[in-house]
Amino acid sequence: MSETRKTKVLIIGSGPAGYTAAVYASRAMLEPILVQGMEPGGQLTTTTEVENWPGETEIQGPDLMVKMEAHAKAVGTEVISDLITDLDLSERPFTATGDSGTTYKADAVILATGARAKWLGLDSEEKFKGFGVSACATCDGFFYRGQEIIVIGGGNTAVEEALFLTNFASKVTLVHRRDELRAEKILIDRLMKNEKIEPLWDHVLEEVVGDEDPLGVTGVRVKHVKTGEITEIPAKGVFIAIGHAPANELVKDTLETHMGGYVVTQPDSTATSIPGVFAAGDLTDHKYRQAVTSAGMGCMAALEAEHFLAEQE
Ligand SMILES: Cc1cc2nc3c(=O)[nH]c(=O)nc-3n(C[C@H](O)[C@H](O)[C@H](O)COP(=O)(O)OP(=O)(O)OC[C@H]3O[C@@H](n4cnc5c(N)ncnc54)[C@H](O)[C@@H]3O)c2cc1C
Repeated sequence: MSETRKTKVLIIGSGPAGYTAAVYASRAMLEPILVQGMEPGGQLTTTTEVENWPGETEIQGPDLMVKMEAHAKAVGTEVISDLITDLDLSERPFTATGDSGTTYKADAVILATGARAKWLGLDSEEKFKGFGVSACATCDGFFYRGQEIIVIGGGNTAVEEALFLTNFASKVTLVHRRDELRAEKILIDRLMKNEKIEPLWDHVLEEVVGDEDPLGVTGVRVKHVKTGEITEIPAKGVFIAIGHAPANELVKDTLETHMGGYVVTQPDSTATSIPGVFAAGDLTDHKYRQAVTSAGMGCMAALEAEHFLAEQE
């Protein structure tokens, strides 16, 4: 049965940004509702070890997100399993429509819908995700100290990831389907001067290969785009670095976006182009894309929502 729920603060998304916003909004007595979406817990539920969340030397991503959800609930957040399919920001209270049929009316909205790494869509890529295949060098580079690594891509993301990975890897092979990079010149110069990086032009990833027990990557098979010749390269890690896509479907036509769809926020703020609508986490962040930065922005969004609501009264 369809119902209408009224709340001071509606938080859309259940990643680190959403749950942190929920903790702060609850403790400010705003009685927020948080709608979880299709991926309760967000991106960290798709990984294994997280080693850079302060206070936890090592924690499994899904376990960290279970803790965050429990924390949000313990301080009073109502966590709802629903997917927002439409968001009307033309007047306050704002109106969100849930896939369940529920309508949510909110005086302020915190958008925390995150982002998704782009993947190639290969079966072998899926099979080894979290077991040698990654899309985040900052998160997983540390696991490949002294190992050989493959980076797939040819834009800024790929060049930055390849450069960063040389801090750990004995060798980084950058596999790119063209014979030149589409990155900033300064980054290309740095890459070309780095003796640990070997570009492999005109090749695409055919297959990630590895062991079954324990599951782990041992190398890749790459194909020359002109000759079709297949080459095998040994490696312990494969980083897919073909970009990220912010989950902006609800707001791409109503809020200002930039850098490929990331929601624009005001400097040092999570305020968007619509008063009362705040955006936090990977949805706005084309640069750092970390759990801890997302959580920080979730905190900011809740505090700013609190100030906004106080000013309205
Ligand atoms: C494999 C992998 C490993 C990683 N490892 C690390 C690591 O070790 N350390 C680190 O700091 N970072 C890591 N990251 C990055 C980190 O996960 C992200 O920076 C962080 O999760 C972003 O948080 P977020 O809250 O902005 O959004 P996300 O975690 O992306 O969560 C988005 C949420 O929004 C919800 N949502 C989306 N659309 C809707 C909708 N229409 N209605 C309702 N809800 C919706 C989703 O269900 C989801 O809950 C990793 C990422 C990946 C993919």
